[in-house]
Amino acid sequence: MQYGYEVRFSSKPEGDGDDTQTSSWKPNALIMEKGLKYDKPSVMKGRTDVNSITNWNAPLVWEGTFDPVVIDSIYKKMDPRIAVIVFAVGKYTRFLKAFIETGEKYFMVDFRVTYYIFTDHEDEVPKVQLAAGRKITILTVPSATRWQDVVLGRMKWATIAIDQQIRSEADYVFMMDIDSTFRYRFGAESLSRLSAVLHRGYYKTPDRANFPYERRPQSQAYIPIDEGDYYYTAAVWGGYLEDMYTLVKYCYEQSKIDEKNNIEAAWQEESHLNKYLLYNKPTKVLSAEYLWCDYDRITEDVKVIRISQIAKNYAEVRPNWN
Ligand code: UDP
Repeated sequence: MQYGYEVRFSSKPEGDGDDTQTSSWKPNALIMEKGLKYDKPSVMKGRTDVNSITNWNAPLVWEGTFDPVVIDSIYKKMDPRIAVIVFAVGKYTRFLKAFIETGEKYFMVDFRVTYYIFTDHEDEVPKVQLAAGRKITILTVPSATRWQDVVLGRMKWATIAIDQQIRSEADYVFMMDIDSTFRYRFGAESLSRLSAVLHRGYYKTPDRANFPYERRPQSQAYIPIDEGDYYYTAAVWGGYLEDMYTLVKYCYEQSKIDEKNNIEAAWQEESHLNKYLLYNKPTKVLSAEYLWCDYDRITEDVKVIRISQIAKNYAEVRPNWN
């Protein structure tokens, strides 16, 4: 395993670049514009086929549990800057075009968005027409010979990049896999201090013992068999910049301890993420609508698919097989 990478920035931070500063972003009170027209919310009616609240009282977001008109009005008033961190290393640059093009159609439309693209092939970043207030920043990272190093290394590179640049440019940060496309609105209803997405493969798993958590006590990501709430995907997660920074750095540091102890968590950063979120509960849980995939049957309770992972030939796109 190798983490000795350097991130090279293609542009200088706009702020003073002092990485000891922390972001002071706080959302305003939930202020809505006057005169807005929208359906009256009901106390009695809502989704009854799914649970829309966790046992720590955080919203569990499904289509039909929010009104986009109301949510957008509230968050537009705050006008946050939203960073999307994606990696496209090696052959994964082929996924950039569709990701960004569909992101422009469905992701945080009318909000300020910067796509931070970490790549070893700057020349393969496509030119995509972006809406006003949206931009692309390219950050160069070296190539890798093991896909595990790219996947887990994202935590190190994102930690450095937030410290050196993104902190002065964004209020919210999303970490996303690049091999996916947006299919439907992914909007301000997803914003919170820490928002995590239920893994589509395990959101109906009745017994927590069957979650693919790291089960070896030697790993920092270890979760005992009788603990756990949900199994979250590491392919989409987001929140306030400082909360995301803490979590990304945590995953990086825990994986470094594992590395010293000659162990790699079962699902790399996803295992560390799940450990963290068990004891530091997310403030919003996003349903599997927020990350489905092209090759799984769609279940009845999933009314819309907001992001879908593209079917890919692992042997062809990854630098190594296992
Ligand atoms: N990735 C990359 N190059 C690689 C392997 C992974 O850029 O060689 C990045 C890319 O953003 C990808 C993410 O890491 O979406 C997760 O890897 P992958 O999609 O292979 O994992 P999966 O979700 O299929 O297990």
